[in-house]
Amino acid sequence: EVRLDRVSRDFGALNALRDISLTIRRREFIALLGPSGCGKSTTLNCIAGLLPVTGGAIWLDKSRVDTLRPEERGFGMVFQNYALFPHLNVRQNIGFGLKMRGTPKAEMDRKVNEALALVRLQGQENKLPGQLSGGQQQRVAIARAIVIEPPLVLMDEPLSNLDAKLRLEMRAEIRRIHNELGATTIYVTHDQDEALSLADRIVVLRDGVVRQVGTPKELYEAPAHLDVADFMGFRN
Ligand code: ATP
Ligand code: MG
Repeated sequence: EVRLDRVSRDFGALNALRDISLTIRRREFIALLGPSGCGKSTTLNCIAGLLPVTGGAIWLDKSRVDTLRPEERGFGMVFQNYALFPHLNVRQNIGFGLKMRGTPKAEMDRKVNEALALVRLQGQENKLPGQLSGGQQQRVAIARAIVIEPPLVLMDEPLSNLDAKLRLEMRAEIRRIHNELGATTIYVTHDQDEALSLADRIVVLRDGVVRQVGTPKELYEAPAHLDVADFMGFRN
């Protein structure tokens, strides 16, 4: 499990995150949901280690990880803009992290093949990112994040650059991949439908504070605040 214990993050005078406490269970799919500027990316970046926390602690099972560098935490990251290496082909993009870790060639090939199959990109492995559609590029980014077998997968609005049809298709794909992998996933979105259809539990953030945590059903039946109900579109 992953545990945030009163995590805070300030930017100068701005308290972007205030005392965020949260426990994410193994194999859970968590959506971090809230309006623009509420602190979703900041939370994800603090968990990944791309941004230091200014208070509190982050735990992975019995280990404290907020003091570790990102590569020591070893979490898989998927970003809105894919962030692929344009000059590396699909196979090289997916294998990059394994290569950095000095994984032997045979093992690397096997793991990359498994990841390619999981995201259904077999046959595309010699293409460059620029020769792929947006949805295919995001599949490469997902494969690259999961090929290292991370204890936690972090996704920041991974579908927001895709058109509506592809967004729906990839939404289903992301949940399928999570299930097949037995992954633990934290998925950032400002899209209520996406959170409701994907997540086991939804964390509603507002102004750097957790407003409510619950299953889609719990949020629907008992929103903690009117603004949660409003934001979720459960009123009128
Ligand atoms: P969006 O949906 O627009 O991506 P978000 O929920 O991801 O929004 P964050 O990026 O986490 O929001 O930002 C939370 C708050 O912290 C915002 O007020 C933002 O302006 C501020 N902030 C984020 N990064 C920085 C930074 N590097 N320096 C100063 N302020 C920042
Ligand atoms: Mg963001």
